[in-house]
Amino acid sequence: MIKKAREYLKKYFGYDSFRPGQEKIIEFVLDGVPAAGIMPTGGGKSVCYQIPALLLPGSTLVISPLISLMKDQVDSLVQAGIPATFINSSITASEVSKRLDDAVKGRYKLIYMAPERLESPYFLEELKQLDISLVAVDEAHCISQWGHDFRPSYLKISSLMSKLPGNPRVLALTATATPTVREDICSLLGISEENTIITGFERTNLSFSVVKDENSLTFLERYLSKNKQESGIVYGATRKEVDNLYQYLLKKGYKAGRYHAGMNESERASQQELFLNDDIKIMVATSAFGMGINKTNVRMVFHYQMPKNMESYYQEAGRAGRDGLDSECILLYSAQDIRVQRFLIDQSSTSDSRREQELKKLNQMKDYCHTEDCLQSFILQYFGEENSEPCGRCGNCLDTRSVEDVTVEAQMVLSCMIRMGERFGRTLISQVLAGSKNKKIADFGFDKLSTYGIMKQRSAKEIAEFIDFLASRQYIGISGGQYPVLDVTNLGKEVLLNKERVLRKQQLTITAAQTDDVLF
Ligand code: ADP
Ligand code: ZN
Repeated sequence: MIKKAREYLKKYFGYDSFRPGQEKIIEFVLDGVPAAGIMPTGGGKSVCYQIPALLLPGSTLVISPLISLMKDQVDSLVQAGIPATFINSSITASEVSKRLDDAVKGRYKLIYMAPERLESPYFLEELKQLDISLVAVDEAHCISQWGHDFRPSYLKISSLMSKLPGNPRVLALTATATPTVREDICSLLGISEENTIITGFERTNLSFSVVKDENSLTFLERYLSKNKQESGIVYGATRKEVDNLYQYLLKKGYKAGRYHAGMNESERASQQELFLNDDIKIMVATSAFGMGINKTNVRMVFHYQMPKNMESYYQEAGRAGRDGLDSECILLYSAQDIRVQRFLIDQSSTSDSRREQELKKLNQMKDYCHTEDCLQSFILQYFGEENSEPCGRCGNCLDTRSVEDVTVEAQMVLSCMIRMGERFGRTLISQVLAGSKNKKIADFGFDKLSTYGIMKQRSAKEIAEFIDFLASRQYIGISGGQYPVLDVTNLGKEVLLNKERVLRKQQLTITAAQTDDVLF
């Protein structure tokens, strides 16, 4: 059958060979083995169920939360001669029942459906009449509370599976591969973990970098002015930020567009179209932009602020270089990004445990911004690929600054934390080390500590950044939600005992003018 699968890949999709992982996943499905496929965005997950759909009898049910993409997907399948349809809230009730009737008659090979439908007992009854051989769960991380996009209706999938006649097989697909999420997907969908295929998260044509010692706007403008012919996306954290930046770039004469959920649908569609046709070179957008946009020649993706977690970051940055040509992913970091993201998390979190989880992810995102090791390796490790070699392309791999031994400074910070009882956050710790006259410090009697003012040649801000660096190296642990509390880890204790040296790339001296945010 796999030979036939290869034939179909050519016949229906026009490709000569499978990408890594695709063939193995398709084999599992055809053999009737419940399986999971974890591939980066753009890795080619769709054919993993589309080809089995053609080879298996009956229909394949595709569960996907991305309503806006269903129509496009179905249109291109129909164009390729594959009968397909979708059922979601964008069509009328009478159209839904018409499509269901046709589905019962076996008129479709693929039926795309939004997960919310599973909430309706009526709908589940209807589905029982269909001859379904395969349930493909797209964006399968939505089933996990620990994923970045939990959707309760995904939990209904397993009961759907048990109700459907004929024992359909299941295939879970996602680009999110943190080990916890993987475990959840497998256990909730009855997939054994060894039947999980994880493929190449490394994108060898992308160079990652984090810019944190420079004014973001100055950097962005300088970069854009040198690359005027190239396409790029600039992601901002909020609509307001996107609007401001967009206006600013227009005024400076850039062919910029903008995209966020506050604009009406036709405006968004027209901006997207202009960008796809290269009439707009720079798209300034919130994370609402990019889902399912298949523009291959995006040469640069900027994040004007740090995103809320690594999953979002890699997904958005991964929109660069789909054509395989060298492209850059640049994160413009400033410490206040953390506050913005914390605020957004507080506003959107539905429960305490959820909030805790999101804050933990935010901390890992922050570690990415502060690490001095290979950024590509950091990403791969986050997604569960251990022991990758340094990429040699990222900002950190190419950083030629010399390395300093900062063990003594690290000891000052860590011992001060211990003296303060490991009950406080970075701001107060930095102020004590800088010898600040803050009333709170006097109230606690911290001005009597031997470590009070021990780093007074540095500003509290610099010390706070140094603390972030120590946290990214796991010398300092962070716990608690809104007001994180720092403690000294076991590795940190080794530093205090002189058993571990702390090395850091030489820091640039930042002048006051550079840190002034000129725009906002
Ligand atoms: P994902 O869902 O993993 O983000 P898609 O399924 O949308 O990715 O595939 C991304 C792109 O790769 C699509 O344009 C698709 O047609 C293309 N593609 C998929 N499989 C192959 C293959 N074997 N060879 C070449 N291109 C492929
Ligand atoms: Zn690297």
